[in-house]
Amino acid sequence: YAAKRDGGGVRVYDEAADARDRDEMTLADELRTMLTTQSCGHGDLELHYQPQLDCTDGRVVGMEALVRWRHPERGLLPPVAFIDLAEQTGSMFALTERVLGQAAAQAARWQGDGRDLAVAVNLSTSCLEHPRLLDTLDAVLADSGLRPEGLVVEITETTLMHDPRHAVAVTRAIADRGIGVSIDDYGSGYSSLTYLNELPAGELKLDRSFTARLTSDERTRAIVSGTLELAHHLGLRLIAEGVEDAATDDALRLMGCDRAQGYLHSRPMPVADADAWLRARDAATPAEVGDAAPAPT
Ligand code: C2E
Ligand code: MG
Ligand code: MG
Ligand code: MG
Repeated sequence: YAAKRDGGGVRVYDEAADARDRDEMTLADELRTMLTTQSCGHGDLELHYQPQLDCTDGRVVGMEALVRWRHPERGLLPPVAFIDLAEQTGSMFALTERVLGQAAAQAARWQGDGRDLAVAVNLSTSCLEHPRLLDTLDAVLADSGLRPEGLVVEITETTLMHDPRHAVAVTRAIADRGIGVSIDDYGSGYSSLTYLNELPAGELKLDRSFTARLTSDERTRAIVSGTLELAHHLGLRLIAEGVEDAATDDALRLMGCDRAQGYLHSRPMPVADADAWLRARDAATPAEVGDAAPAPT
């Protein structure tokens, strides 16, 4: 870049940054158009699903829905490429409505297949604080026919602490509907134990940074085991995110962690792959005692 000194200040012209800004504006426009029109040539949002497993028996108890944007020229964009943009341009609630609709429809399909698993959707701060959130959740359940226990909302500790009183009221209304509440990235923010006690959450989701250091760092191990104790005393489940290796998975199970999610078990998958993954797992899992399935010969 070129910098020119004029008067007291420094004017910097950064061609690359300028191009990047224009690029972002284009992307923001395309995002808005994509969210407000059905088919507009800017692709569509796509949900990828990552399994959540029960640590004790390996049963698939949930799927986290993670949004991607299938862009016609730029390919499959991860959330980091467009979530902030959606927030900045006021498109985040529209995006979340789309995500909730797709996720609930998929969860209802899995419920219809007889699968006892809940689909988890991430809610950002602006969405938790949006006046239409509860109406949208009601509409999404009604449209999909999904039983409310089939839906979980993941809300980060940071979002919950943005306006704690409001967060308590909204999460209570969500939980009253029978929808699950999970506190995402737990331990990475600053949550007050007072509010934690008031939140009607069913689950703490341990931040990946703790999971990653669990087997190599004694202090992290102490934090995780303390968190587990706290969670269980408060009647909450603990799920570890970012489980990447078998040693960590084993350690979590031995410590009494309830659930695990991470690359070890599966990356987030498009719905067709998630279905195939679930079927392959059905075939590999021995029938449980008392199951109607014929005994293996
Ligand atoms: P998150 O909710 O904490 O989701 C977990 C992220 O960690 C996902 O990244 C997932 O792919 C990744 N991950 C899962 N297992 C592992 C692992 O074993 N190792 C590592 N290193 N990473 C793992 P992704 O899909 O890129 O999403 C990033 C973030 O974007 C999410 O973090 C969430 O905050 C946000 N996000 C995704 N979808 C949505 C959405 O529909 N709405 C909102 N508001 N945010 C979303
Ligand atoms: Mg999450
Ligand atoms: Mg998380
Ligand atoms: Mg995270």
